[in-house]
Amino acid sequence: MSNLGGGSQADRPSLFELIAQDKMREMLEPALRYVIAVYAQRYPRYLIRIVNRYEEFYALLMFFVERHYLREYGASFAENFYGLKRVRAPRIVKQPKVTIDDESVATQAAAAAGPSIPGSNKLRERDIKKSLFFLIGLPYIKSKLDEYYEKVSGGEAARLFGDEFTQEEEDLTGQSLAVRSKAAVIKVFKRGYPYVNAVYQLAILAHYIGYLYNKTPFYSPWLRLIGIEVKRMSAADYREIQQKAKSAPRKPAGSLVESIKNNVLGLLSGSLDFLKVLLPMSIFFFKFLEWWYQSDYYKKASTAGDTAEVPPPERIKPHPEGLPMPRAANICPICLKTITNPTALSSGYVYCYPCAYKQVEDHGRCPVTLMRCKTDDLRKLYDDAGM
Ligand SMILES: [Zn+2]
Repeated sequence: MSNLGGGSQADRPSLFELIAQDKMREMLEPALRYVIAVYAQRYPRYLIRIVNRYEEFYALLMFFVERHYLREYGASFAENFYGLKRVRAPRIVKQPKVTIDDESVATQAAAAAGPSIPGSNKLRERDIKKSLFFLIGLPYIKSKLDEYYEKVSGGEAARLFGDEFTQEEEDLTGQSLAVRSKAAVIKVFKRGYPYVNAVYQLAILAHYIGYLYNKTPFYSPWLRLIGIEVKRMSAADYREIQQKAKSAPRKPAGSLVESIKNNVLGLLSGSLDFLKVLLPMSIFFFKFLEWWYQSDYYKKASTAGDTAEVPPPERIKPHPEGLPMPRAANICPICLKTITNPTALSSGYVYCYPCAYKQVEDHGRCPVTLMRCKTDDLRKLYDDAGM
């Protein structure tokens, strides 16, 4: 089944690979957020700003990461991780507004035209820019819009209780035109955004299905928009990357400044390549923690730890107007004699049984703390270890 949609073309990735890499990209954000949040508790001075503006920080970070990967490997980070690459779609497919039927004909025509010249479908700088917009800009804009919609629609409460729960619309007569038009825009957004969102999700779903049944070469509407297909990397691609890596650092350094620049750039691109190891690791770590905190192991481990050190209950202090506590613990505060038949009240204080019973029956209170007690609360103590 996973090969369904792969069809006869060996370099056509299955939909499941594509969804897997999409999911991995989506996982990166919460994983990194978690790591940063943990460190922000330790070093709040430096990291709290990042936590507060996390979405911007993440977008900026991913901009550099994705740009590096698009330039070096012709793929987004997650695509590269799954051994995929981006190529420009053959021009014939790139006609605007092709229906799905037309397009499958077009794909066949393109396939019939034979393999294109190698290298001709490499990403150009323009394609990289477009890719970056759809990889980072669009998700960022969408998350901001989602957030804004949540804000204007009243959030969770409105969804549960319906529109009545949201605030009454203010009376705007007499307000300036700017205020009124702003309110109108917000109202339109509030009504329209769920539909836009539905169309967005449907477009993605339609492309998944179309791709699965080999009706379109694009698995997402954005790739169709920018005319880029995702393919499996071939052995030749790997060889090319390896050669590039070998030949790149051999650049003779002209001046000191240039060699420093080369070194810094090399270090930077090296660390970006290292992300290939680091980011998936952080995902696995995040997933592990998620599992750990939900699993029985965690509950067992934490309860086992707890039984060893349950804190003692807080002692109820004697009331200033109550009876004074005698010096020795084995003296009854009521009759001031050695306690016979020790009996505790619900306040935790111990008296002789007859004293305690009479006191509670007459006054309904513990004589020392003045806490309300009933005769049913009297408890006989069998162990006088604490007396
Ligand atoms: Zn007594």
